[in-house]
Amino acid sequence: MGSGQLARMFALEAIPNGYEVFVYSPDSHSPAGGVGAKEFVSEYDDKEALLSFLKSIDALTFEFENIPETALSIIEEFEKESNLIVRPSPNCIRIAQNRWKEKSSFREAKIPTVNFYPIFTDQDKNETPSKVSYPCILKTNTMGYDGKGQVKCKSKEELISTLSTLQEFNHIVEEFFPFTSEASVIIARFQDGTISHFRPSLNIHKNHILDLTFHPGNFSPNIEKNLVDFAKKLAEEIDYVGVFGIEFFIKGDEILCNEFAPRPHNSGHFTQDGGSLSQFSLQLRTLCNLPSPKEIPVRAVTMKNILGEDYKPGSKLWNQTLENPHYHLHLYGKTEARKGRKMGHWNYSGPNPESAFKDWE
Ligand code: ADP
Ligand code: MG
Repeated sequence: MGSGQLARMFALEAIPNGYEVFVYSPDSHSPAGGVGAKEFVSEYDDKEALLSFLKSIDALTFEFENIPETALSIIEEFEKESNLIVRPSPNCIRIAQNRWKEKSSFREAKIPTVNFYPIFTDQDKNETPSKVSYPCILKTNTMGYDGKGQVKCKSKEELISTLSTLQEFNHIVEEFFPFTSEASVIIARFQDGTISHFRPSLNIHKNHILDLTFHPGNFSPNIEKNLVDFAKKLAEEIDYVGVFGIEFFIKGDEILCNEFAPRPHNSGHFTQDGGSLSQFSLQLRTLCNLPSPKEIPVRAVTMKNILGEDYKPGSKLWNQTLENPHYHLHLYGKTEARKGRKMGHWNYSGPNPESAFKDWE
């Protein structure tokens, strides 16, 4: 489901492994279509079109979580009465697409997370501002990505006035956590419960969008172990089968889980040039139940996203980078370079990975 860059990079793994890849989304000339995936172009809630797609495949996975409930139910029903394999389960997608359910799952799995409060009713709207510690962030409960749908409020007055402008409920309020670093773990869980994972990475965001990932993240052994243990706990708690990326905030010894994405993650793109398996290979292996190593050794890699405003093929910097054999370019086949749009990324796998993208501004 989906035909953007994550589907493209999945196809670039699956097709050379001998599989045919079909993608379903409302878009034609998609990133995945551009590398040989066959496109089914229809709205997600078009039942007839979705059923004809489902009938033509053997196994289904997702490149993003914002799939309407109508489509998830159709998939779930079809799965019951057919041999179609669906990984991860629609239920895991439902959890990941809804911040309230997601953070509640963290709580149930005893994974520490920020304090969060619902804004689902008039009563929530009236009572929450007195319960929260400030600053806080008001977030849309569903459909948020790359910091979209978030407002930071420094005081109770600011939250009350922001809440009064809301067109609809379906929000949550989170307390702001003054982290010193952000980390993520890419993990895969197989049908039989076996887990494969990479070491944690360090992530730097710019304007709420991932800018840089450093792998491995150079955390203390204790922090590193806790990060991986939390990822495993979540996978087991929600009986997840497939690959996910899970994001954390760190301050001193304290770790809070922020969110997870039920699919390969932008902060896992380093795996493509780590000299070992990529996160897309794990997605394929979990989907098709293929053998996999448990711990995946990856050399140091730094990843930098290329957003619309940085997309300058032919510029001096771009050409100098291409002249260096340690930089690997991955482009997503998007023609329109809008500001903030993810166009591709660079992976750097040479000496001094910490300074690979210094002075790039
Ligand atoms: P998205 O779904 O848009 O990725 P996130 O919840 O991950 O939303 O927020 C994007 C970024 O905003 C985070 O990576 C972090 O840098 C910052 N952020 C979000 N929530 C908090 C919080 N509670 N405390 C501090 N920073 C936050
Ligand atoms: Mg995020």
